Amino acid sequence: MESWSKNLELLIKSRTSLIWIKTKEEERLEKILNFSCERLNVKRFARWDCVNGIKGVLNEEGKFSNNPLGVLNWIKEQNSELSTILLIKDFHKFYDDPSISRTIKELSYVLKESNNNLIISSHIFPSSEELDDLMTIINLPLPDQKELKNLIERIAINTNSNLNEQDLNELAIASSGLSEIKVKQVTAKALTQRGKISKDDLQDILEEKKQVIARSEILEFFESKSSQNDIGGLKVLKIWLKQRYRAFSNEARDYGLPIPKGVLLVGPQGTGKSLTAKSISKSWSMPLLRLDVGRLFSSLVGSSEARTREAISRAEAMSPCILWIDEIDKAFGGDARSDGGTSQRVLASLLTWMAEKESAVFVIATANAIDRLPPELLRKGRFDEIFFLDLPNSEERLSILDLHLKKRRPSYNFPLSTIIDRTDGFSGAELEQAVIEGMHFSFSENREIIEKDLIKAISELVPLSRTAKEQIDLLKEWSSTGRARSAS
Ligand code: ATP
Repeated sequence: MESWSKNLELLIKSRTSLIWIKTKEEERLEKILNFSCERLNVKRFARWDCVNGIKGVLNEEGKFSNNPLGVLNWIKEQNSELSTILLIKDFHKFYDDPSISRTIKELSYVLKESNNNLIISSHIFPSSEELDDLMTIINLPLPDQKELKNLIERIAINTNSNLNEQDLNELAIASSGLSEIKVKQVTAKALTQRGKISKDDLQDILEEKKQVIARSEILEFFESKSSQNDIGGLKVLKIWLKQRYRAFSNEARDYGLPIPKGVLLVGPQGTGKSLTAKSISKSWSMPLLRLDVGRLFSSLVGSSEARTREAISRAEAMSPCILWIDEIDKAFGGDARSDGGTSQRVLASLLTWMAEKESAVFVIATANAIDRLPPELLRKGRFDEIFFLDLPNSEERLSILDLHLKKRRPSYNFPLSTIIDRTDGFSGAELEQAVIEGMHFSFSENREIIEKDLIKAISELVPLSRTAKEQIDLLKEWSSTGRARSAS
């Protein structure tokens, strides 16, 4: 947050006279601006809203309520020696008015010659061709770790909740991605229920985060039940992931390692790509946010680029977390000409973010087809590694079958070694399907599943490797050129 305030102060010092700050956190913004005014030696920090009029300036209290034009003229006439910052709220509602927009235009050069500034805060920025170039628009980021820790500590002290340093840190980390108001709401709820705040509030914080993500249109909060123990095979990938997890620690930072960026998983359908994404979230205890790429490109609300930026900043605020981009090939593999270059621009902003990313957002992207993947996605420096998840070999098929049988029929009791050869070319998903199919046979005869049921189910299933042979051969050929590491 400090760097954000410094940036804002730089804008103010360099006489950027009209600043629009996008935020819903008015109270927090006021606090931050208050500090900035002190640091900048600004003598007067006036606030205005249409109900209460001016606040914070002696002799002017309550003036210009219901008079937005009046308050703009007021700042225009203020003596420059006094150096005044005027923060006006909800101004988007008056933005269209011709006399308001005229006065804003005048202010853009009058204020440049003075030590006064106009800051507008609103949860949106109503674009206006006429005024856009005059405004400097910035977003107030959600509170960072330091702010959250201070906030929770203050609440804990005020409520006599004895929080030790570790609990405090855990609560602050868990709260990342929430606004100050939301944190206050969660803690207020805890106080009414338990009389103090404690580590028990972590679950409530998680619930609140889910709500926040649910309100975001393109991110989906995924609660994962699968852990890495639910994955059969993919040994190399599992070891690699274990190593990367350690690279999130402070020891790794001290050691000089960068924060991991992410991984691209490429392979035929049903080979465990999504399962891996879900299991990492559980094993690493990090929230899993799925980017709904379809919605990203839907033309219903706002621009795709703006939505991408919003998703990125939400994910960053939620860090440490995992951002899962499912079927990235389908999203960005289309013809650039057919959508006016939108997908290219969205991809470019995603890639730039990934290349420069310093936050603990681990990106997992999954893809089925290689021919449609934009080459810039495969370039070094984007993902830490690209893995190819092939159809499972016999040893892997055995462990996948065993996993799915044990999950549903823990008491199953027959050897799998003789069956395995019959499953050549089956994906993990198809092996799971065979187990379920076999169980239908045994269930209809009210008995435990036996070898014969599974053999029957396997013989009736036509694996994708037979129907989509060409596509899978293409993938194998691509991976054999050394452009991806084998996950097995
Ligand atoms: P798609 O490309 O179609 O999205 P995918 O590679 O993401 O496919 P998953 O969705 O991960 O495939 O697999 C579907 C299901 O198949 C999983 O939920 C899991 O039950 C089973 N499965 C696939 N691979 C494995 C595996 N290696 N071990 C255990 N189960 C597996």
